[in-house]
Amino acid sequence: MGKLILIVLVFAFAWWILGKYRRSLTREEPPPAGAAEDMVRCAHCGVHLPRSESRASGEKFFCSEEHLRLHR
Ligand SMILES: [Zn+2]
Repeated sequence: MGKLILIVLVFAFAWWILGKYRRSLTREEPPPAGAAEDMVRCAHCGVHLPRSESRASGEKFFCSEEHLRLHR
């Protein structure tokens, strides 16, 4: 009887870990502060911002949708 409970507990624990692991895979982790992320320069106003937050157009990067539009 004690063995059965142990098996159930192990399965429940494994299921819980698996669920956590899957969630961590699908969730997009924000880059930690101060991470060595590429900084790009807005081709319109010259402000520096992380590449992930910029709008790219060919070789150039922009800080916002508006600056991208203005540059075209
Ligand atoms: Zn800009």
